[in-house]
Amino acid sequence: MPRVLALPSGPAGGLAGTRWIDKTPACAGAPTEWFFPAHTDRTAYAKGKECCAACPVRSRCLDYAMANEEPDEPWPGLWGGTTPTERRGIHKADSRRSDREAASTGTSTMRKSA
Ligand code: SF4
Repeated sequence: MPRVLALPSGPAGGLAGTRWIDKTPACAGAPTEWFFPAHTDRTAYAKGKECCAACPVRSRCLDYAMANEEPDEPWPGLWGGTTPTERRGIHKADSRRSDREAASTGTSTMRKSA
């Protein structure tokens, strides 16, 4: 059974025992402000992003946020190396892709029945 070897201080810090954190996250012991900066200018997340880039659970961290946050109101902080603004963009792109797939499926269905 996976276990958390060290608690991260980044966003995943409140998720101790969560199954997807089966390796020590790169944010373990890193300053919280790297992931939740007081300001959000272009450089605010730089150190946190470096940390996330080397994280063994990065993709699962991003997947977790994407699956659980509101698309129009992403969680604060870095998750999987992405800012809330970046995740809002990913949600929108995913939504457009789903719309296209649904439209495509509808078209296919119409062609089959025609
Ligand atoms: S991707 Fe970033 S925020 Fe997520 S667990 Fe890894 S280091 Fe922490």
